[in-house]
Amino acid sequence: MSMKERIQEKFRTLYGRDGDVFASAGRINLIGEHTDYNGGYVFPGAIDKGIMAEIALNGTEKVRAFSLDYDEYVEFGLQEEDKPEQAWARYIFGVCRETIKRGGKVAGFDTVFAGDVPLGAGLSSSAALESTFAFAINELNANGIDKFELAKIGQSTEHNYCGVKCGIMDQFASCFGKAGCLIRLNCKTLEYKYFPFNPEAAGYKLVLLDSCVKHELASSAYNKRRASCENAAAAIRKNHPDVEFLSDAKRVWLEEVRTEIPEEDFLRAEYVIGEVQRVLDVCDALERGDYETAGEMMYQTHFGMSRLYEVSCEELDFLNKLARKMDVSGSRVMGGGFGGCTINLVKKELYQPFVDAAVEQFTEKFGHAPKVYDVVISDGARKLD
Ligand code: ADP
Ligand code: MG
Repeated sequence: MSMKERIQEKFRTLYGRDGDVFASAGRINLIGEHTDYNGGYVFPGAIDKGIMAEIALNGTEKVRAFSLDYDEYVEFGLQEEDKPEQAWARYIFGVCRETIKRGGKVAGFDTVFAGDVPLGAGLSSSAALESTFAFAINELNANGIDKFELAKIGQSTEHNYCGVKCGIMDQFASCFGKAGCLIRLNCKTLEYKYFPFNPEAAGYKLVLLDSCVKHELASSAYNKRRASCENAAAAIRKNHPDVEFLSDAKRVWLEEVRTEIPEEDFLRAEYVIGEVQRVLDVCDALERGDYETAGEMMYQTHFGMSRLYEVSCEELDFLNKLARKMDVSGSRVMGGGFGGCTINLVKKELYQPFVDAAVEQFTEKFGHAPKVYDVVISDGARKLD
């Protein structure tokens, strides 16, 4: 049975009728890492792994929700004090509350949902869950909230109901994603633009290798990196007052303050300024259908994240090095670093040998196998037929 059929069967059993089916997606980010809080670009796309939910209004002021993957049923009201215990239900509750806070109507509903985004692997299963419900609730109540605000409903849900102070990229990608396209988002102005990305048609595949490690350093290191960036931007601002974020600075402006800031801050800033430019270069390359150049930029990003920004780790460097050795077109750590996945752009004929070698050699060295996720860029939040 397909996921949709399993959802529909359970919905009928639980609620004795049919509803409408909605879906949304997890996401990847091809390039543009640690650029968001520096006012730079990110370049995400929605993927063919997501959340699907059948929903119908139930004429009450309550939500009745069943998670197929957790095999768990929860009921909750729509007032602030009705917050459910279960983590998964808080995402749905949060989306309801954030919709109400924006003046939207939320009538009680019944739902059954399931998903196939691996949890906590850096593909943002939580954004897929939020955007599915944000989109569906908007439709079913005819609230007319625009897509950007739906993304913000998801982000605020993370902030206010799930304790995660995330940026807007994941929810943005999940709401705006389109098959065959990546979306360049300017994190300062929130302007965005679609670029063609169809590696399958050009003879490539996109594959993630999950190291399945998460090193503890991540959050303190993250705060230190942010402070370095702010310090470098402040030094540059003295000469160039228009520099609000580090992404506004030119490489030569950074050189001017080289001796005024700690070497470490210089290296961090060098990475960020380079990364902002690389996103633009990758977009140019993709408009020409030049996947090899895009891939080369991914390697440069990995180098920068490993040597300048210093947020990689042994496991990720190992996977990246192997990709290079095997002539994979592009490879880099995806996400904040210190663990998680590498994202790899690989020619179709190289796909199987590369994945086999990665699994075998990684397992031999680190004692556990990496997980392999094939991804295809797909549609984001939507109603299904
Ligand atoms: P990620 O990086 O995948 O977004 P998070 O920890 O932010 O990881 O979100 C994972 C959480 O989202 C899960 O613990 C669960 O509460 C919820 N979630 C994600 N996918 C599902 C699903 N298929 N069914 C129920 N809850 C889900
Ligand atoms: Mg998440």
